[in-house]
Amino acid sequence: MQKRQELYRGKAKTVWTTDDPQLLVMEYRNDTSAFDGVKLAQLDRKGEVNNKINAHIMGLLEAAGVACHFVKLLDEQHSLVKSLTMIPVECVVRNVAAGGMSKRLGIAEGTKLKHAVFEFFYKSDALHDPMINDSHITAFDWASEADIVAMKKLSFQVNEVLQRAFAQAGITLVDYKLEFGKLADGTLVLGDEFTPDGCRLWDAQTGEKMDKDRFRRDLGDVVHYYLEVGKRLGMKNL
Ligand code: 5GP
Repeated sequence: MQKRQELYRGKAKTVWTTDDPQLLVMEYRNDTSAFDGVKLAQLDRKGEVNNKINAHIMGLLEAAGVACHFVKLLDEQHSLVKSLTMIPVECVVRNVAAGGMSKRLGIAEGTKLKHAVFEFFYKSDALHDPMINDSHITAFDWASEADIVAMKKLSFQVNEVLQRAFAQAGITLVDYKLEFGKLADGTLVLGDEFTPDGCRLWDAQTGEKMDKDRFRRDLGDVVHYYLEVGKRLGMKNL
């Protein structure tokens, strides 16, 4: 499938149209950003590594019955996906306190949670993705009650599948962000990506960070650790 016109250029990916209006091409670039685009860098091979990790994870999720927009890998930096009308919210699931939650609530990073926590954020770089709740979503008509129920259910289903997959790889799935959208027929499916850019992954033994916090916190060797995540997940194409 050939990419035709640039539809949307995000901070790390570009979305292209194809000849089929139901299908889009997602290009994973080497661009890396943090703090709503304030910190930027080009990291060699990051696009390729994230493209392949995403394909692997989406495969695990589809196999477990989570409908995803991912169709197939096209080449090193491109994947074919189904076109979605995106819901403008981010769904965050947390298993361990870290990052924004630790800062907001004054809880030490690494504190285990009695059960997984779900949070909604409104997608807006200009507003720094403010935290919202269910009633903001229905009040502004960003999604329906039924969509909210479905997004929460799918987000926790993803947690079951991926906590297990990462644990088998000696990695703790600390937290992650998901985005959902709707197919032309109204079906809600998982969109965007699941890569170390949008989750926290800690080595289960040492606690070493293996995700984008290496970039945000200037810890270095970002792509090296992403590759290590892929290898531990048993990926052969990295
Ligand atoms: P926090 O709220 O702690 O900053 O983020 C929680 C989790 O969601 C982290 O794994 C973080 O990487 C991910 N996350 C939250 N917002 C974004 C975002 O706008 N972009 C990306 N790539 N990940 C995000």
